[in-house]
Amino acid sequence: MASVVPMNKHSAMSDAEHALRVDLAAAFRLADRFGWSQLVWNHITARCPDNPNHFLINPMGIRWDEMTASLLVKVDVEGNTVEVLDGDGLVPKAGFVIHSGVFEARPNVNAIVHTHTNDGVAVSALKDGLQPLCMEALFFYNNMGYHPFEGTSMDNDERTRLAKSLGSHKAMIMQNHAPLTVGGSVGEAFVLMYWLQRACEIQMKVLASNMPWTIVPADVAEHYSKQETEPRDITEDFRPGVHEWPALKRLLDRDDPSYMV
Ligand SMILES: [Zn+2]
Repeated sequence: MASVVPMNKHSAMSDAEHALRVDLAAAFRLADRFGWSQLVWNHITARCPDNPNHFLINPMGIRWDEMTASLLVKVDVEGNTVEVLDGDGLVPKAGFVIHSGVFEARPNVNAIVHTHTNDGVAVSALKDGLQPLCMEALFFYNNMGYHPFEGTSMDNDERTRLAKSLGSHKAMIMQNHAPLTVGGSVGEAFVLMYWLQRACEIQMKVLASNMPWTIVPADVAEHYSKQETEPRDITEDFRPGVHEWPALKRLLDRDDPSYMV
């Protein structure tokens, strides 16, 4: 693979924003690799490190497999475009409403992943949502919000209701719509979506098996979810993204580092 020249930094851009743009573009490329993209729709976003009221979002009409650091558009929480480096910079209103609602309500959230995979949408349509059927699902045990469907999220008022539905949880299922994960970093939100996506796939397989199924008992589920998220030492730090995100980026760097431009 030929070497790729990283995105030209504009003079006003901090090193932290540059790194964030590269990380966010990587998330789109990886999500597409895992089959999470849906034509040119849905969004992955990140809060700008130099201004908590600004965030980066993917523009209209760009496939996730062609996303680059410089195509990402900087918008503010009111929906105004702040900066466009490349492309026409058009941002759909629905993406802005969902993501700005979460960023405004959760100052510790720096990245949001929202995807429409078949299994994620299927679980969003189940009355009882995600079930504690497997270890992947237990990441979200007592840590999942549910948001009733209101149609396409075009109404700014829905931001308040979205934030209330998410609460302090690390993920939310927008019912009859699709899941969403949040994180303190792009890597954390991405890896949480990986586990949630796997949990949804497994749940739909279990349901399709037409065999009796077993739910993990509540006390065991609570014990396990704590084991998975509380770091004990460096080798057993299983917090989402700590070990996975650098490894995932190496995959892109090896095969196609053009996301960095
Ligand atoms: Zn959606």
